[in-house]
Amino acid sequence: MSFALPALLRVDVSNLAASESLLRQKSAPVVMIDSAIRELVGELRRVLASIPHGAGLAAIQIGVPLQVAIVNAARTPESEIILINPRVLSISGRLTWRREGCLSLPDHAAPVRRRNTIVLETLTLDGDVTTLKRRGFEATVIQHEVDHMAGLFYWDRLEDGTRPCVIEAAFDPTT
Ligand SMILES: [Zn+2]
Repeated sequence: MSFALPALLRVDVSNLAASESLLRQKSAPVVMIDSAIRELVGELRRVLASIPHGAGLAAIQIGVPLQVAIVNAARTPESEIILINPRVLSISGRLTWRREGCLSLPDHAAPVRRRNTIVLETLTLDGDVTTLKRRGFEATVIQHEVDHMAGLFYWDRLEDGTRPCVIEAAFDPTT
């Protein structure tokens, strides 16, 4: 089985609710880690690496509604985190404001308040369950990608009356 991979799905800034968008769909758990899933991970890695400042990408963003994502805050091979069927065990720590962007809404960003520490279980590409604990920016990116799997965007978490603003230059990592 192989996926036909479209380009990045985008949201129109004039329709942030975008309830009809595939991006609003909940992603399904991966049933078996086979060559198609490995191919999908490779494609996510390739697409993410091709985007300057990209720090994370969920499969749904390229039109595949499966619980798979790549997080790579430092953009090195060693810092890559593969998320497959992630299960959040705890989100804790300080509430921290960080400016977030999304590859599905280029050139926009807004300050989002999230907890600073996340612990989660995820599958490796070998099918083993592993537990990860991450803090700071990586914890933000992981929460952002897990949100994508639930059909949520960072702007769903903004305070009333705020919305993503156009940024002049993309200098922040975006997900
Ligand atoms: Zn995003």
